Amino acid sequence: MLAYRHAFHAGNHADVLKHTVLGMVLRYMNQKDKPYRLVDTHAGAGGYSLEGQYATKKGEFEQGIARLWGRDDLPGPVADYVAAVRQFNSDGKLRQYPGSPAFAQMVLRAQDQLRLFELHNTDHRILASFLGETKNVEIYNADGFDGLKGQVPPSSRRGAILMDPSYEGHGDYGRVIASLREALLRFNEGVYMVWYPQVQKLEAAQLPRRLESLAPKGWLHVRLTVQVPDSQGFGLAGSGMFILNPPYTLHDELLAVLPYLVDVLGQYDDANYLLDQKTA
Ligand code: SAM
Repeated sequence: MLAYRHAFHAGNHADVLKHTVLGMVLRYMNQKDKPYRLVDTHAGAGGYSLEGQYATKKGEFEQGIARLWGRDDLPGPVADYVAAVRQFNSDGKLRQYPGSPAFAQMVLRAQDQLRLFELHNTDHRILASFLGETKNVEIYNADGFDGLKGQVPPSSRRGAILMDPSYEGHGDYGRVIASLREALLRFNEGVYMVWYPQVQKLEAAQLPRRLESLAPKGWLHVRLTVQVPDSQGFGLAGSGMFILNPPYTLHDELLAVLPYLVDVLGQYDDANYLLDQKTA
């Protein structure tokens, strides 16, 4: 039984980081004409209302996309990210937020392929009604950790993978490692992007180290910390993305936007970022 619904969190600070990085990676992939495949192992519903009862319950998007929406000083890749959200809101008001499949769909070219896994029946149904008829898109109501190995390598041998689990239980941390290990055996040149929450849990703190040990040719780790956990240690202080085989441009692109994101999204004086990489 899956309790997690991304609709509660859509457009929050973690989505800002994740979807900005996703855009950077896909735009880099687009620099070559050769087709590629994007596999989104935990796709969600594809789009979310910011006016519905889920998003307004805690109003998480107010501390995320809403802080960027009206700015006229957005640095390049953040401007690209906000432009994509604007494309999803044709009347110019921030009412809807695109999920990762929608962001991808806006950047992928006609020759590229999108493979989406979503286990929750309701979110899968919404996703299928949104993108189910789209050329080069395949949607599976199936487990993305298990399904990944069947999607790699793509025949073009160019591919990117977004792994964005809900980390509802403790099991997801171990499954990230196991699923990636298996996929890397088949396709070690893929660009693998893993999102993780900055929460006070041992598994979350240890995940980047465990991912480092998998990286065949280099990695990049970015983390954006925007708030302090509450007095019981709960709450999402921030989030991270760990990228195996990152585009060589990603580090400097991130370096140019992270101080801005800390400044605009930070909710306390010591908001900060971490950016680290190991090149092959
Ligand atoms: N990637 C989405 C985005 O950025 O818009 C958000 C995804 S949300 C964090 C995680 C999603 O994974 C949820 O919709 C959840 O129902 C789904 N999910 C949970 N376990 C799964 C699994 N083993 N395989 C596929 N989907 C799963």
